[in-house]
Amino acid sequence: MRIQAIASLLALCGGLCYGQNLVSNSSATDIASAPTEPKKPISFDLSAIDKSADPCTNFYQYACGNWMKNNPIPSDQVRWGRFNELAERNNYLLYTELKSAADAPKTPLQKKYGDFFAACMDSDLADKLGANPIHPELDMIDGLSDKKQLTALNIELFKKFGGNALFYVGVQQDQVDSSKQILGTGQGGLTLPDRDYYLTDDDRSKKLRAQYVEHVTKMFVLLGDTPEKAASEAANVMRIETALAEGSMSRVDMRDPAKRYHIMTIAEVNALSPDYDWKQYLDGIGLDQAKTLNVSSPGFVKAANGEIEAESLPALKSYMAWHVLHSAAPFLAKPFVDENFAFFGQTLQGQKEQQPRWKRCTRLTDAALGEAVGQDWVKQYFPPDAKANMEKLVAALEKALGEDIQSLDWMSDATKKEAEAKLGTIQQKIGYPANWRDYSTFIVKRDDLVGNVDRSAISEAKRNLAKYGKPVDNMEWGMTPPTVNAYYNPPQNNINFPAGILQPPFYSNSMDPAVNFGGIGVVIGHEMTHGFDDQGSKYDLHGNVRTWFTPEDLTKFQAKTGCIADEYSGFKVAEGQNLNGKLTLGENTADNGGLRIAFQALQETIAADPDKALAGYTSDKPATAEKDGYTPAQRFFIGFGQVWCQNQTEQSARVLAKTDPHSTGEWRTNGSVQNFDEFGKAFGCKVGQPMMPANACRVW
Ligand SMILES: [Zn+2]
Repeated sequence: MRIQAIASLLALCGGLCYGQNLVSNSSATDIASAPTEPKKPISFDLSAIDKSADPCTNFYQYACGNWMKNNPIPSDQVRWGRFNELAERNNYLLYTELKSAADAPKTPLQKKYGDFFAACMDSDLADKLGANPIHPELDMIDGLSDKKQLTALNIELFKKFGGNALFYVGVQQDQVDSSKQILGTGQGGLTLPDRDYYLTDDDRSKKLRAQYVEHVTKMFVLLGDTPEKAASEAANVMRIETALAEGSMSRVDMRDPAKRYHIMTIAEVNALSPDYDWKQYLDGIGLDQAKTLNVSSPGFVKAANGEIEAESLPALKSYMAWHVLHSAAPFLAKPFVDENFAFFGQTLQGQKEQQPRWKRCTRLTDAALGEAVGQDWVKQYFPPDAKANMEKLVAALEKALGEDIQSLDWMSDATKKEAEAKLGTIQQKIGYPANWRDYSTFIVKRDDLVGNVDRSAISEAKRNLAKYGKPVDNMEWGMTPPTVNAYYNPPQNNINFPAGILQPPFYSNSMDPAVNFGGIGVVIGHEMTHGFDDQGSKYDLHGNVRTWFTPEDLTKFQAKTGCIADEYSGFKVAEGQNLNGKLTLGENTADNGGLRIAFQALQETIAADPDKALAGYTSDKPATAEKDGYTPAQRFFIGFGQVWCQNQTEQSARVLAKTDPHSTGEWRTNGSVQNFDEFGKAFGCKVGQPMMPANACRVW
């Protein structure tokens, strides 16, 4: 619904990205202070190092201790790290582009994104309109006189607002034949970050649920309902969402392609949900030729239908109205924005202050028109040689992973052959799309923020549905150019590095290879290793789900990933809250493999040209054994660890432990180095010390 729809369409990485998936803390404010340019992050920060810490005991503390001490969480953030520093800077630079496009556009495209941004920045108009912008949608829901009209309502919500209630469809690659694009329906319909929030029975969860019901009540009161009516609506919402949570699959199960693949005829889907007319729905949204659907979460479809049967029409209306209200809240008048922030920012994540409106509007414009503004952004901020340098690094990493595969003593030649074939076909995309997305049918109005967001959702949903039955376009991007992130796409077997990440602290032309391999080198290795983690390895070189391990090798592989899963489940992120080793298994495997092969690639680069080993790619400094008092190997590990320096609120750590497939910065660093003996050797650790355990885990 609304911005969630935009976000989900853009976030193709589905947990396979490199970076942090911050839970969105929809917030806006009218802080008048002028935005100032954040300083450029630097690679290899000597002042960040805590020399009082022993790198063999806690390397993260050593690499980042002073950084953590000197960089408290800004009041408008819930987590603050090197990633965020760079993302905030990119966001600021994007803001300057948007501002000048809003003030004096030079091209039709600038006019479009400038108007979108200007509409978002107009808080006076938003305040004046109150909740008026969502009344047409609420009236449509309120006008329902029979549950049998739900299908027709959903068609109208889709056409007019890009929205949906309970059920939706989208186009996805067929995991059995990746050359095909098929229809699928998934699960959703919850407001809290995960189904566990509805189902866990500890005191913390119970309290949060009570606070959530209170929040929903307040929002309905703001909409104009009496406190009594609002309380009953909130109870309806909680009851229905809890039932949907009970029917939903866990995040861990959703990581398994076999568990989310259930091709059904329309009649079979209707048998699961007899109170919803799927044929009518598909016809209504222009998919009358559809014969089958992949129902990724049949339990959810059943549960949603159960709610249509069990709940009264007024209760179902409460639920639908809530989702309209909640998804539009950040774009309405100040009281809605503030109440939304009070629960989702402060209570849920411990954020002290709302983000200034310009930050939120910049992110929103990037989400809605990222490949429009991105075209101009890369001209300014993506140097032409960055792509060529990245290609060299990718080639070095690919070679290292090939050698790593060959060196595995547990893997048979037959499986190695398959792995090498897959590695050899990984496609790389660097910087930005070859073909920019066409936004010509998306109408932007300078005085209609909610309408712009709706029309963006409609246009992206239509773009997605238009793929049905067509050949796959593997040149399409799932992230916008300024994004500080990267991803591997299993059905397409490709790695993608947006321009936004190809800068310090990840990559710098003036840094020595050791630091760059510890930064962007590990990122590249991480994405490549995703093709071979517990999830990615279920796909073959063509992107089809197929077991290409021999049965014996598969058993050994599962034991090795099991070692990683158990190890990370032992890592604590807050009192009584550990990481979920199964949820983070793919990311942790990729971190471990990425670190190892980037180190290998660095060794080969040094061996090939020792004179330049400590110099930058463009520098001709003579080689010395050490630089800043560190050997190349030590600089590599410090460069790696410092990418992950971060502080975060306890609340945010708890939310992410349940929802984020990535581990926290501390464990991405320490978990990876303690499984890699080259780290211990580089810092002179002894076997048995925390960062050099005798029983280290290794997959790749
Ligand atoms: Zn990843």
